[in-house]
Amino acid sequence: MPDILTLKSKVKIGCDMCDTCCKYRGDIRLTIKNIHNISRYLGITPMEFIEKYTHKIDENEPELALNSTGEYKECILYDSVKKRCSVHPVKPLQCVVFPLFPEDIKNDYFYLTDQCKCKNKKTITVDEWLNRKQ
Ligand code: SF4
Ligand code: SF4
Repeated sequence: MPDILTLKSKVKIGCDMCDTCCKYRGDIRLTIKNIHNISRYLGITPMEFIEKYTHKIDENEPELALNSTGEYKECILYDSVKKRCSVHPVKPLQCVVFPLFPEDIKNDYFYLTDQCKCKNKKTITVDEWLNRKQ
């Protein structure tokens, strides 16, 4: 089990905008707020968004995740022409905090995944990472 981090914890972290985290990412879970914000941003209804862009993580549970597509299992919201997230201003929390993972968001507990291969990592606090300009 990885170390649990709080907002004051220091982490070696960075982002050189390689967009690898929009590919082969596995399930990116959506909150109700994510669904409303992203569907509004795309100019469609929440139900249209759910039908076109999401799947159930477990058939017996209501939780939804973004679909992926193509050879590289790209997130369905990744714009492969512009090489960026097509919903960047309203992207899901799991993407905002990456490569941290929100273990318990109510208590601001995170852990650091090893999925990011950024070459320019710096040591900063979790709080600084979450409040950085993106
Ligand atoms: S967080 Fe890491 S994997 Fe994602 S774009 Fe930045 S450098 Fe690439
Ligand atoms: S929602 Fe955006 S940032 Fe998150 S994986 Fe999809 S394309 Fe990438």
